[in-house]
Amino acid sequence: MGEKIDCPLCPRRDIPEGHVTCPQCNADLSYLWKLQEVPYVFFNEAVQLSRKGDYIEAIQKVLASISLNPDFVDAYILLGNLYQEEKHEKEARGCFEKALSLLPETETELKRQLYSFLETRPVTKIKPKIRAFL
Ligand SMILES: [Zn+2]
Repeated sequence: MGEKIDCPLCPRRDIPEGHVTCPQCNADLSYLWKLQEVPYVFFNEAVQLSRKGDYIEAIQKVLASISLNPDFVDAYILLGNLYQEEKHEKEARGCFEKALSLLPETETELKRQLYSFLETRPVTKIKPKIRAFL
């Protein structure tokens, strides 16, 4: 997923995926990489729960995911969708605004969908597509 981690034992930063040990101090990084996956595991569980209609539980999972990875764009989009299902329009808007602020310019189609959602009053049923990490 193009993630990078910082070595917990030496000043080495931004170690790219594929390094099981620190290139500088040789520290074992395997557990750190496993921890990196946890937000995505929670996210995928939230997607499954939302497909079953367990929106409240899905919201809990996706909030946990965001707490571990505050820049996780798709998690904000999923959370926005879930808040919409629960008729919490204000919270949904907040999530989509946050997602827009994090999305790179290259995500033009997703940005367009989010803008159209935010600009439409009253809020329509448009749901930006989320990418699942399965
Ligand atoms: Zn190191």
